[in-house]
Amino acid sequence: MTQVSNAVASPSAPADYSRHPLMQDVGFVMSDHDLLYRETVGTMLRAADLMDLPHYLRLILAQPKNEIMVHFPVRMDDGEFRLFKGYRVQHNNAIGPYKGGLRFHPDVHLDDVKTLAFLMTMKCSLVGVPFGGGKGGIKVDPRKHSSGEMERIVRRFTSAVAHQIGPDYDIPAPDVGSTAQHMAWIADTYAFLSEVGGHQPQAVITGKPVEYGGSLGREKATGQGVVDTLVNLLPELGIKIPGMTFSVLGYGNVGSWTARILHDMGAKLVAVMDHTGGVRNEKGIDADALADWCARPRDAGGTGGVRGFGGGGACTEQEFYSTEVDVFAPSALEQMIKEEQAKLLRCRVVVEGANAPTTPAGDRILAQREIEVFPAILANAGGVTVSYFEWVQNKTCSAWSLDEVDRKLREHMLQAAMRTKAARKKYKCDMRTASYIAALERLRGIYAMRGIFP
Ligand code: GLU
Repeated sequence: MTQVSNAVASPSAPADYSRHPLMQDVGFVMSDHDLLYRETVGTMLRAADLMDLPHYLRLILAQPKNEIMVHFPVRMDDGEFRLFKGYRVQHNNAIGPYKGGLRFHPDVHLDDVKTLAFLMTMKCSLVGVPFGGGKGGIKVDPRKHSSGEMERIVRRFTSAVAHQIGPDYDIPAPDVGSTAQHMAWIADTYAFLSEVGGHQPQAVITGKPVEYGGSLGREKATGQGVVDTLVNLLPELGIKIPGMTFSVLGYGNVGSWTARILHDMGAKLVAVMDHTGGVRNEKGIDADALADWCARPRDAGGTGGVRGFGGGGACTEQEFYSTEVDVFAPSALEQMIKEEQAKLLRCRVVVEGANAPTTPAGDRILAQREIEVFPAILANAGGVTVSYFEWVQNKTCSAWSLDEVDRKLREHMLQAAMRTKAARKKYKCDMRTASYIAALERLRGIYAMRGIFP
């Protein structure tokens, strides 16, 4: 573990605004049903206070523009019908079309989707892409359905929301549980329903397979952006990627790509945990071999996750969190780093690969313990940035090389990191608040120019 003084530790624990009177001022009723959303808006209000954001902007941003919920029947393989619930929340489109992923998960609910849509508005603004924020999902466990059932669920959802999305209006993408194949079915269904075959209808969605209008580098893009963030921000802490140690929570798209890219750069992966269990090896875990293991089908001996991997010993949750590392990358679901986990961590830096992985209470512990946080709206913005590149390629009928995609992504990630650092310096705040301020500055500018009509 690198031993140097922590030059940029957050100056003080950030205040929790989620129960602040200002929440009522922007229209919140203090129920517990929207806790995550309220906490996230609370972070925005903390930033808004510091930078003196106009009141009308706080009001506008405190609620999404549209919250769409649909129910649709789908025929299962046994001939019976089941009713599914789907969501699309369109938070803000002042900068450009609504943009954000579709989550396929049995626990997805409106509070999550609203929060994630809000975070997309912030993320797109911070990383300098011409999009607003949206998010959606289907309450479904993709692991419990055959490919045929998933195709019918996804196509039926698309037909239910087809009039609410569009290449210039709202552009979904993958998120937890959804894949490039799902995006291909959505693009195909949308093209069929909109009957605009000649006008690149596949630009309605990003994260598609490369053969059908996807971009090179999109699959690894979120992990690549996490690594770019570390490249941009670790030097001021005196940590070098070659030789550093790290642990990862969640080994899906974001966690596994983050680990594989860091591993290639000479960093040592020492602990991983996912929904199936934990694996630890002080000598280093082979990130590629672990990704292959996770992809192994159950009928070929796989466990659907990291459990049972031969390249390390099994570890408990407590052992995982208390493993000493330079960098910890939570890359699973929201709100997993609560007070308890934050107290266990023995790391210098938390780089948030997942959206909203840290609770405000967890955040306060991290700040008290002088653990630096590279916040999610910055660290995981690589996915939507390459989604933007995919959209541009679709619109201009072009295909960029992987080098070009990676180079342009690095530029966006560097600009976003520099704007966050500038806000931290100007307002003397923690990195999360600074990232929100940098995002809000751009939104303030656009609202000042556009005005409110009528
Ligand atoms: N779901 C990803 C995110 O949370 C990507 C969104 C997109 O590409 O539009 O950032």
